[in-house]
Formats: sequence, structure tokens, C-alpha cells
Amino acid sequence: MTSENRRRITVAQGDGIGPEIMEATLRILTAAGADLEIERIKLGAQVFEQGITSGVEPGAWDSLRRTKVLLKAPITTPQGGGFKSVNVTIRKTFGLYANIRPCVSYSPFIPSQHPGMNLAIIRENEEDLYGGIEHRQTQDVFQTLKLITRPGSERIIRYAFEYARRYHRRKVTTFTKDNIMKLSDGTFHKIFDEIAAEYPEIEAEHWIIDIGTAKLATAPEQFDVLVLPNLYGDILSDVAAEITGSVGLAGSANIGDEIAMFEAIHGSAPPLAGQNIANPSGLLMGAVLMLVHLGLGSVATRVQNAWLCTIEDGIHTPDIYTDGLSTKEVGTDAFADAVIERLGHTPERLRAADYPATEEPIVVRLKDRPIEIKTLEGIDIFLEYRGAVEELGRRIEDHLNPLLTLVMISNRGQKVYPNGAAETFCVDHWRCRFQPRIPGSTITTADLIDQLTRLDAAGLPFIKTEGLYAFDGVPGYSLSQGQ
Ligand code: NAD
Repeated sequence: MTSENRRRITVAQGDGIGPEIMEATLRILTAAGADLEIERIKLGAQVFEQGITSGVEPGAWDSLRRTKVLLKAPITTPQGGGFKSVNVTIRKTFGLYANIRPCVSYSPFIPSQHPGMNLAIIRENEEDLYGGIEHRQTQDVFQTLKLITRPGSERIIRYAFEYARRYHRRKVTTFTKDNIMKLSDGTFHKIFDEIAAEYPEIEAEHWIIDIGTAKLATAPEQFDVLVLPNLYGDILSDVAAEITGSVGLAGSANIGDEIAMFEAIHGSAPPLAGQNIANPSGLLMGAVLMLVHLGLGSVATRVQNAWLCTIEDGIHTPDIYTDGLSTKEVGTDAFADAVIERLGHTPERLRAADYPATEEPIVVRLKDRPIEIKTLEGIDIFLEYRGAVEELGRRIEDHLNPLLTLVMISNRGQKVYPNGAAETFCVDHWRCRFQPRIPGSTITTADLIDQLTRLDAAGLPFIKTEGLYAFDGVPGYSLSQGQ
């Protein structure tokens, strides 16, 4: 039998406590009237054991392409080399660019130092330092590449403002470190300002990440929607969830243009597995986000309100049980039973959920941007060298392409040649900047390749290079500290 409200989803029961909390969650959804046609797939430990290093069984991809929605319990990532994070693989394969994590405190029923907290963290999910592009370049130096892109930033920031508009949030905040990373974080901040101007009814603010984090940890009720680049979002979403009272309470959504994945924010808690004591609330809250995404807002409202009533009635799993506040300590199954008994009830003191009956997923459209004119202004050549910088400078000056000059040498970003400070600590990794001898004159890639060849012949082979480009006349590279 099919009905208008039937939805097909893919379910992965995960590892550790995963199977128990998934069954409790599905039982609640079914009792609440969610008409779900479920395809089950295997992800995680069982798949790793078969020698599949992605942790995803081959048929899983087809199921996800069919249903476009995955409800996933936590997965144990095996220690040691060779195994990939299943989460990262799924997010990147399907372009799940937005991670949405509501962080709400349920005080006074679950103790929290920040009773008024009701914040949504929207984390960019695909880029930044998470590309995993890493290299060891010298004896001393290891590098991870941080990539911030214009479309990636625009997409997540627009998503955050659309989310704020949809859910009547009053303010969107971002944190960056653009006082230091002027190009990467600076771009994120600049795009944030551009997009904020298109949403005049929503307050927009930017904080430098260090003071912003301090404010989030001490006065989280000041924030409403927080949109963050990947690494900052990864760290701060756990901080925010923890200060609501427990990481065991929060769910999250990973949204792409086509496919979406819903989960709890916590892990597989192996020591609790098989004991019927884990709290299913995080996965249940992830499932509520899924129901809203599926256009089943009334079921989502019913489930969340029954859950809020259970919390209000003090029926708590051991992780949130507090003497004097809780009334009954229950296991996973009994907690699910208590939620099911309260379906149709509305909480008295906690803020009741009220999702629109149906709503379309938020879709973000990127603006076309004109292609800027890119001009070559030089090259940074990175070398491995052990010795005095004056000697390195002299050797390079003796092997210059006639059209180029050595503008400076820096070590870990600090200019050390010419006229460096004797006190600067140096490692074996030197960035040598070459630009036209006559400022503003044209140079070609062939001139730069010739410079590399000359250095190689002088016993100074390059370990990496970066082109120095201007875009519409604006330099797309940083100056060195001390330059
Ligand atoms: P964890 O979240 O599993 O556990 C942290 C602490 O919280 C533990 O004390 C645990 O007992 C408790 N806890 C977590 N969920 C709970 C729940 N539902 N009810 C009651 N208590 C709960 O984090 P961890 O120990 O760092 O990681 C365990 C495994 O989970 C690792 O293999 C890790 O890679 C994996 N992990 C998976 C995901 C995911 O699949 N999304 C996320 C995080 C960690």
C-alpha cells in the first residue's frame, strides 16, 4: 500500500550503541504515524571487517541515490591506518555541504549553566582544512592545505541566512580569524557581509574567532544562528552542544542539493553497547530534522513534543539523570516507551515544537560572478636548506633569471632576508619570492621555469612553488611579516 505521506528512507544502524538507539528511534517514529519505507544498509565495523576500507558496502550508494535520505546511527572508526571516516566519505561523495546542529538547553529539567540557550550552528562541511591535502616538505616541516572557496563560502552563508529567514531567527553571526588569514578567512567574512546586505531584516555580526568563542562559552544566549567554516564549526558545535547539558541530546542534519543525512552528534559509545542504557535522544532529534526535511512537519512536531514531555516528566536515561530533578531512571527501551505514551501531549514549560505541516527543503542558488582578469606578478619558490640565510641569499642572487629579482626570503612567514633580525628562529624551510626586476614589467611562466632550473643547477631544488597573481589588479597573495 502506498500513501501520499509514505516516504522512502535509507537506514544504517551503526556500531556500538547504534542498533539499540536506532530501534528505539524507529519505534517512536512509527508510533507517531511516520509512514516510512525503510531500506537498510551496512556502514562501519561490519564493512571494515570485510576489508572495504571506505566502510560503506557497495550497494549502499545505490540505496542512497534512490531514497536521497539517510538516517544513520553512530559508527566506530577503527584505530590505526588505512580506514577512512565513513562520515567524511558520505559527506564528500554526495556534496553534503551544510551541517546543521541545533543546540538547545532544556533547563531546569536537564541542568545547564545557560538556561536561555537556543542556537543553531551551521557548519561548512566540505572544505577548509578537511580536504586532507597534506605533505611533509622538509625534515622539519609538515603542511596541511587550507582551502576556502568563493562558491563554498557563498553556499553555506546563503544557507544560514535562508535558514534564519525560514525559522524566524533574528540574527546570524560568523567567526573568522581574518585579522591573520586575510585571504582565506577574509574571503569568508567578505562574502558574509555581501550576503548579509541582501537580508536587511536579519541582524548580522562578525567576531574574531578567539573572542567569539569566549563569548559563546560564557554567554551563548547572545547567539541565534552561527555560520562557521569547517574547522571552527567542528570544534564550536561540540562546545555548544556540551554547554546545553549533554552531547547525548543533540541531532544534526547534513544537507546537500540532492541527498541529506541525519544523525546524532555523539559517537558509538562502545562501553555502553548492548546494555539498554544509552540515551536515544540525539538520534531521535536527528530523526525530527529528517521528518521536517521529508515534509512531515506534523509528525516531527508530535515526536518532539512527546520527547519534551518525557524530559519534563523527569523520565531520564542514566547520562542525564540528576537526583532531585529526575523522577525515574530508565533504559533505552523504557525511554522510548515513555515518549510513545506521551505522543499527542504538549510540554508545559519547555518551548513546544511547531513545525509547518509541509515545507520545501532550503535550496540555495549561487550568483554568477564575472571572471576577473588574472595577471602573473611573480613566484614564491620554497626550498629546503640548512645554513645561514645570508649565504642562501648570495647563492640565489648569483643564479637569477635576468628579468627577475629576489624580493625577499622568509622563514615560517617572517622576512629574514635582506635585513633580517639575527634573533629570528629559523627551520629548514625557506620561501623565496621572485618578481620582475623592473616593477610592472611582463613576465611569463617560461621565465619562472627558467628560474627553477637555475636554482636546481645551483643545488637548490624546489620543494613547492606558488604563483603570485593579481585579480583585476588586486594582489592575490600576502606580504610577509616584516616585509
Ligand atoms: P562518544 O560520543 O561515543 O562517547 C563520549 C561520551 O559520551 C562517553 O562517555 C559515552 O558513554 C557518552 N555517550 C555518547 N553517546 C551517548 C548516549 N547516546 N547515551 C549515553 N551516553 C552517551 O565518543 P568517543 O568515545 O570519542 O567515540 C567512540 C567511537 O565513536 C569512536 O570510534 C569514534 O570514532 C566514533 N564516533 C562516531 C561518530 C559518528 O558516527 N557520527 C561521531 C563521533 C565519534
